[in-house]
Amino acid sequence: MPIGTAWRPGSSDNTRAVTDPYTGDTLTELAQADEGDLDEAYSAAVAAQPDWAEAPPGERAAVLRAAADVMTARQDEVVDWLIRETGGTRAKAELEWGLVRSVMWEAASMPHHVEGRIMPSDIPGKESRVYRQPVGVVAVISPWNFPMQLSNRSVAPALAVGNAVVLKPAGDTPVTGGLLLARIFEEAGLPPGLLSVVVGSGSDIGDAIVEHPVPRVVSFTGSTPVGKGIAEKAGLKKLALELGGNGPLVILDDADLDLAVRASVFGSFFHQGQICMIGNRIIADAKIHDEFLQRFLDKVKALKVGDPHEPDTQLGPVINSSQLEGILDKIQRAQDDGADLLLGGEPFGPTGQCLPPHVLSGGNDVATAREEVFGPVMTVIRADGEEDALRIANDTEYGLSSAVFSRDVDRAVRFGRRIQAGMTHINDAPVNDDANTAFGGEKSSGIGRFGGQWAIDEFTTDHWVSVQHEPRQYAI
Ligand code: NAD
Repeated sequence: MPIGTAWRPGSSDNTRAVTDPYTGDTLTELAQADEGDLDEAYSAAVAAQPDWAEAPPGERAAVLRAAADVMTARQDEVVDWLIRETGGTRAKAELEWGLVRSVMWEAASMPHHVEGRIMPSDIPGKESRVYRQPVGVVAVISPWNFPMQLSNRSVAPALAVGNAVVLKPAGDTPVTGGLLLARIFEEAGLPPGLLSVVVGSGSDIGDAIVEHPVPRVVSFTGSTPVGKGIAEKAGLKKLALELGGNGPLVILDDADLDLAVRASVFGSFFHQGQICMIGNRIIADAKIHDEFLQRFLDKVKALKVGDPHEPDTQLGPVINSSQLEGILDKIQRAQDDGADLLLGGEPFGPTGQCLPPHVLSGGNDVATAREEVFGPVMTVIRADGEEDALRIANDTEYGLSSAVFSRDVDRAVRFGRRIQAGMTHINDAPVNDDANTAFGGEKSSGIGRFGGQWAIDEFTTDHWVSVQHEPRQYAI
């Protein structure tokens, strides 16, 4: 792993294998990083960052553009690694590859958009300047589901505006979530020391990354419980937290059902449902509930589950066996809570991690509706009119993404604005495949926004410098 200015194994005695979730094959084995490695990474970041911040914006932009060019040149290899390491289908891997490259392009514009201000002053002869400057060193911690995109969405903008980064990818996906990304930036000409990758488990080095005195911003994407723990440990550091979701897909009584069904299938089961923005609940108006449900079930039954390497596979394996056990447990508890299982099936495949899509019918209080499932499971809930649908949609601790279906767009927008969420999509799935938009959540889904100007703001800070141009009178 790149620690400081050199690539070397981690110093911990622990070694972890990275496996293909479908075949179970070992892809690589990595000696893990320890706290000493982390110190070295942060020290190198502190040493390298000032020159990088001073570099002309055009020079930083050129590195970001070159990184996007490397993505283009190495497309097949990146897509192949994404399929093998995450178990995602080819469609998912190609989408992720495209998102990463788009964010690099967008980040290449950022160095020229960091703007300061001159502010008015009540003191004669005083000029109040506000310089916008990089925060210094940024810690990035990312999850395994869209590992390259969710690392790069912080790494690329943070570097572009003049910071150094220490990145900790998830243990299941250290290659696409960190090592491959670092190689790409290295090939693009990023100076040494500016991007270190420390591969290690959250329980071993997670606290040390967050509590270390060097980073000024901790950019975390992952589950709500871990995010809350990070908020407690981070002290006075600035936090960007992108956490879990429990997205409602609301089908109003005047929805185009064909459109709603197609979008709901994608918005429920893409990448086996392992997406923070995925629909976790479908809330269907009683007037169209039965017809919608029948059409939805017909379409879900036809999905092809299995080997993600085959081009027509639509759902691949769940990332690992403990995630699978957690999903199966939620399905069982939902039935204990009174939900009806309408569609299911046993896990299969070489690792036994391919779970056929499950559809349940129940109330908003069954386990699969109350909790984020993060798997190929959808709970369909009947709503008694628009106000009841809104009440159910908001009856969750989360507030990340959501979707509303209606032929009356103004009605859907009025409804959507009353959903407590950071993102609402009208007549589309809640899974955002637009790389550079206002991404982020409310309530237990996080703090902060990603994309465009939000990213620039996140990774820069104001420094007020006043200049007294004429001698002045002081009070004493
Ligand atoms: P996770 O919280 O278990 O792990 C995320 C990262 O945090 C990993 O790198 C992990 O090693 C690290 N980590 C674990 N314990 C830590 C600790 N104590 N200190 C510091 N770091 C620690 O999440 P996951 O299982 O990898 O991902 C799934 C979750 O992520 C879901 O809840 C999903 O909704 C959420 N997610 C959110 C977004 C978003 O943008 N809002 C995107 C993707 C995933």
